[in-house]
Amino acid sequence: MNNNILVQYQGGGYSGCYWEWNFFYIDKDGQFHDIFSSGRAGIKDKSGLYVLDLSDDDVFTYSVTNKEDIKTFNKECNVVHITGILQWFEDNPQEDVEFFAVCSECGEDITACEEITLEQWHGCGGIMSTADVLLCQECHMNGTCGCCNEYVTQKELIYLDNEDKWNQGLERFENEYKNKAAISILEDGLSDVCIGCVDWRAEQIEQDDHKDLLFQSLATGKPDMFSDEMRWFWV
Ligand SMILES: [Zn+2]
Ligand SMILES: [Zn+2]
Repeated sequence: MNNNILVQYQGGGYSGCYWEWNFFYIDKDGQFHDIFSSGRAGIKDKSGLYVLDLSDDDVFTYSVTNKEDIKTFNKECNVVHITGILQWFEDNPQEDVEFFAVCSECGEDITACEEITLEQWHGCGGIMSTADVLLCQECHMNGTCGCCNEYVTQKELIYLDNEDKWNQGLERFENEYKNKAAISILEDGLSDVCIGCVDWRAEQIEQDDHKDLLFQSLATGKPDMFSDEMRWFWV
C-alpha cells in the first residue's frame, strides 16, 4: 500500500444490512490512522487491512499530496464527509499534506473548516441526514436572504435595486401586491431577499388593504359592497 493516501471504503455492515462510508489514512511513514470506522466492517487498525481489497469497486484511494486527487475526492464524496476529513487533517496536521474542500458554488479551495457552511439538509433514510452543498463564506453570504436569513442560492435571490426594477433587475412583478411588498422591503433597508419573503409581505399588505377597504365600505358605502372593487370579499 502506498503512503500518504486516504482510503474510502464501505464500513458499517450492521444487522439489517446498513452500510456506510468509512475512511482511514496512511501517513508518509506508512502509519495507519483510523479517521472514521463503524460496524463490523470498520477497520480499526493496520491488522484489519488484510480484509480490504483495494481493487474492489467500492474502495477508493486518493493521494493526499496530489491536488488533483483531492479535487476528485471532492467531486466523488458527500459534502458532510468532505468536511469531516478536512476537520481530521486540521486536528491531525500532517507534513506534506494540505487538504482542502471545494466550494460547490464557486469551485474555490477552502482550507479551514470554520469557513465552511453546509446547506440543503435533508433526510437520507432512518435518523440520518445529509447536506448537498458545501459553501465558502462568500458564496454563503451572497446566497442568503437578507430578510429571513435562509440560504436560497444566489440564483433564487431577488435583487431589489430601488430603480423601479426588481426581480433581479429585470421587471417589476406582475402581481401589484408583490410590487408593494418590494417597496416595503426596500423601505426596511433590505435588498436581496427570497421570493418567500416577498410573497409573505405581499399577503400582509393585501390583507391590510382589504381590511381597510371593508371597514370603509361598511362605514361609508364606498366602495359599494357589490362593486368590482369588493369582489375579493365574495370569493
Ligand atoms: Zn464559494
Ligand atoms: Zn427570505
